[in-house]
Amino acid sequence: MELDCDDVLECTSVSDGLGGLNPAAPPIYQTSIFTFPDYDALVAALADENRSTIYSRGRNPTVTEVERRLARLERGEDCKLFASGMGAISAVMLGLLEAGNHVLFVGQVYGPTLQLAQHLARFGLSHDLLRQPAGIEAIAAAIRPETRMIWVESPGTMTFELLDLDAIAALAKARGITTVIDNSWATPLLQKPLTHGFDVVVHTCSKYIGGHSDTVAGAVISTAARIEQIFYRAFLLNGAAIGPLDAWLILRGLRTLPVRLAQVEASALQVIDFLRQHPRVGRLFHPSLDPRTELVARHLRGFSGLLSFELRSAGYAEVRDMLNRLKTFRLAISWGGFESLALAAHRGNNAEALHQAGLPEGLIRISVGLEPADHLIADLRQALRN
Ligand SMILES: *Cc1c(COP(=O)(O)O)cnc(C)c1O
Repeated sequence: MELDCDDVLECTSVSDGLGGLNPAAPPIYQTSIFTFPDYDALVAALADENRSTIYSRGRNPTVTEVERRLARLERGEDCKLFASGMGAISAVMLGLLEAGNHVLFVGQVYGPTLQLAQHLARFGLSHDLLRQPAGIEAIAAAIRPETRMIWVESPGTMTFELLDLDAIAALAKARGITTVIDNSWATPLLQKPLTHGFDVVVHTCSKYIGGHSDTVAGAVISTAARIEQIFYRAFLLNGAAIGPLDAWLILRGLRTLPVRLAQVEASALQVIDFLRQHPRVGRLFHPSLDPRTELVARHLRGFSGLLSFELRSAGYAEVRDMLNRLKTFRLAISWGGFESLALAAHRGNNAEALHQAGLPEGLIRISVGLEPADHLIADLRQALRN
């Protein structure tokens, strides 16, 4: 992992200008409203709500501080922070799309994102999913006259395939289609989709960016014009505003993001070395194993610690028994925290859905945390015994 020096400074620097005192840990502006010295000032602020600090459903200085940092990390003009990743994702769809539009989803996309698109069919939005596109031609062929958005996740959910962002952005630009990527796996430190020509980046900040399993948040980064459209058409009216304390926890998480990522990459690569030699482990899914080395190097500065593997010829019972034997790896959804977690794709009743999605029944996803790698490997070894 070779992180950009400016990025590390962006994460770790002391906030300047907040109250003029430059405290190392910035204040939490725990206030719903801001008062004005005279009525003209209040009226002027209301006329420019996106840039004015009036009411914390719109703008709050602790929240703005996170937005400034995330915008710079993604090399975007502006950012809006939300009360969850899904808050950010829904605001992008509601803020940028109209009835009659079609969204093309490409890759293994986060399940609730697809569920949201299904719900929005009631409002005249249609969509298709190209789960495993066979090259850029397959994506081009799936575009319809009414396609207004191409939505990708790369590396994708559960199996972490990489897509060629430069090629997809070029294709979409030529057709006037907005491109959106869920960049949560890589974080802005490992991949910067806007520099590949993408228009909009969304993140859940509940995973690596927050990093301590103590807060739920999300973000959208794009041009100032698109963020303004999302602000007025979705953010301010939907009301999925993040509280100042949660925004502050994201700032706290950002400070250690570079060292946490470096640590989980080192441990994940050791865990992968162990798993690939284990007789009960079939396919392994992590971008470090992708043979397309040019594609990987063009997109990623390193690898995060979320990976999956196939327990050979395993159904629900074998998957469950293996998970139940884990001790250090805890059983939970989510990922990207300080603690190692494990989860299966199999939920006991969804074998058919897994087959349709092209996922092996024995798929187990692990999020490698900050515990010593030897300890994690020992835990996996005892859980994988027959
Ligand atoms: C968790 C997750 C989300 C949703 O984020 P929340 O903060 O839980 O709403 C979106 N995308 C990906 C890839 C995720 O893993």
